[in-house]
Amino acid sequence: MLLNRCAWHPRYHGYPLVGGVASWSGWGVQFTDGICADCAERFRTEYRAFFERRRLEAQELDARRQIA
Ligand SMILES: [Zn+2]
Repeated sequence: MLLNRCAWHPRYHGYPLVGGVASWSGWGVQFTDGICADCAERFRTEYRAFFERRRLEAQELDARRQIA
């Protein structure tokens, strides 16, 4: 059977999350890595903060170049 696992959960929450059964077919247990809604939200927030910082740094560089 195939289990849905959140690949980001250990990083954000400190413990793994198995979301559910993706498929009952096959013998043994396999994992498929995805992202759960909670981690997706955290990821988006971090991503936004990262790009916002990059944008501000770029603006600062532009400003300095115009002065020089
Ligand atoms: Zn997660």
